[in-house]
Amino acid sequence: MFFHSMGMYSRTQNENGSYNSRCLDCFMTIASCVEAEKELDVREAHHMCPEKALAQLLAMDRAAAAHAARN
Ligand SMILES: [Zn+2]
Repeated sequence: MFFHSMGMYSRTQNENGSYNSRCLDCFMTIASCVEAEKELDVREAHHMCPEKALAQLLAMDRAAAAHAARN
């Protein structure tokens, strides 16, 4: 398991030395058979996670509701 500033990703290595990465929030494979581990950083950084987007939307809704309640 790999902890990343942008989320959690499960990285695995293939027998031929290439890498895979899977998002642990939405379980989407975001990289497979990439040659360099550095490439995983790029893929993970650019992953638009639908699960995290949803969580962010819900958090915004809650913030808006809290704001409305105060006024
Ligand atoms: Zn994801």
